[in-house]
Amino acid sequence: MQKYYVEKVRNYIGGAWCLSSSSEAEWNEVVNPATGDALGKVPMGNAADVDAAVAAASKAFPSWRETPAPVRARYMFDLRNLMEKNYDELLSICTQEHGKTVEESRGDVRRGIDNVETAAGIPSLMLGDTLEQVAAGIDCASYRQPLGVFGIIAPYNFPSMVPLWFLPYAIATGNTVVVKPSEQVPFSQYRIFELLHELKLPPGVVNMVHGGRDVVNGILEHRDVKGVSFVGSSPVAQHVAARCGATGKRFQALGGAKNYTLVMDDCDWEKSVANIADSAFGCAGQRCLATAIAVGVGPAYAKLAEQIVARASRITVGEGHQAGVTMGPLISATHKERVLAYIELGIKEGAKLLLDGRGCKVDGYPRGHFVGPTVFGDVTPLMTIGREEIFGPVLCLSKSPDLESALAMANAHPLANAASIYTSNGAAARRFTHEIGAAMVGVNIGVAAPMAYFTFGGSKGSFFGDLKAHGKDSVGFYTQSKTAIQRWW
Ligand code: NAD
Repeated sequence: MQKYYVEKVRNYIGGAWCLSSSSEAEWNEVVNPATGDALGKVPMGNAADVDAAVAAASKAFPSWRETPAPVRARYMFDLRNLMEKNYDELLSICTQEHGKTVEESRGDVRRGIDNVETAAGIPSLMLGDTLEQVAAGIDCASYRQPLGVFGIIAPYNFPSMVPLWFLPYAIATGNTVVVKPSEQVPFSQYRIFELLHELKLPPGVVNMVHGGRDVVNGILEHRDVKGVSFVGSSPVAQHVAARCGATGKRFQALGGAKNYTLVMDDCDWEKSVANIADSAFGCAGQRCLATAIAVGVGPAYAKLAEQIVARASRITVGEGHQAGVTMGPLISATHKERVLAYIELGIKEGAKLLLDGRGCKVDGYPRGHFVGPTVFGDVTPLMTIGREEIFGPVLCLSKSPDLESALAMANAHPLANAASIYTSNGAAARRFTHEIGAAMVGVNIGVAAPMAYFTFGGSKGSFFGDLKAHGKDSVGFYTQSKTAIQRWW
């Protein structure tokens, strides 16, 4: 593992690297969550940094929108090639700053590249509609046109991928962007922006400002920002949606999750349990598509409890580069405390602790924020751990007498990001797919992540806006339609 270190992470504005105007006191040290080693310092940023980035992006927009779509698309091919060339380094940076295993980082970076590849098809994706002879001698055509500057705001859990759900489509459609990575994991995007710099895009097409809430609010309040793509927790997503509504911006705000998985007794038990464990404990449970509550339907509950505990007990916790490690640490000491507090609360509220991940220690890594796989049985929707997003390696098991009541239990939750069912019964799978409120649905799939060419996003309290991330929705989000009716005498 090549140790990654950046003394001071710089912003990228107008095609140049520059230091934030934050005072010395406003720089946070970022550490590797497994080793505790310093990776560098990130500025907390401010509205002045945002102003400079938006000014550069606004300046770049008029000529970028005039750049032919196939030329814009070619930059995507080049970015894709550069990311492939630097793939192993990107994986290692991701593992060092986030803690996930290298195998999990592979998914993170690969899904980012998938989106760059999909956006390379923008000349086809942006095609409008035409109809000849809408009236005598009159033809009609609709075009998709870019809008201007977009803000992209990311969470910590997929340092490479999430900004790439947006940036490739936003710029390929002719807009310019200001990206704000998570202040907890600034380095993957820092490296990706170094690659973007190599592309020699016109200055100002892509910009990056580091920081936290002040930078987010600077973007939300800026009158020259036309729209915002946000991913993070639901309270912040709702704040983004409210401010964008008030300031007249487009928004797509992807929020938090409490994902249900229904397990029927007729499922393929071996494969299903492996899949559910991977969903619940992969990335140490820090995935918006992670199974949070597995409901054993009828006789399935007892088997599920026994088999999932056995499977989860075989997970090896440690530093993500090490061979054999299948689960890394949580992102920070603060988050670890939060997850441990949920476990205490689960015990207090009467859930049955079937597997206890507290006190997890990893030899050689005394400063790592590790929590082992934890399984609670007899969880009800009234318990705090049955209601709130824990975002850690804590799986809650619930009971339900039949499919109907299991569906009702899942659909009663205010969050509805993803949901899965494990069964060999087509009718049960079909009913589940049709009736479940979540917008990303898995049948015998634990992490129901739509690929780049499909749209990604939940429903109810897990998503604010209308057009979702990537896929066809992306083109709609980053463009407005113009319809021209023509008659020639
Ligand atoms: P977060 O909401 O704390 O932070 C997300 C972004 O918002 C960060 O860039 C952060 O700097 C900024 N931010 C944080 N607090 C803010 C505030 N008060 N005002 C303005 N900006 C603020 O989320 P996180 O902890 O980084 O990520 C985990 C959350 O993201 C989980 O809830 C998870 O479910 C969610 N998530 C959702 C999806 C999805 O597709 N729906 C994908 C990934 C993560």
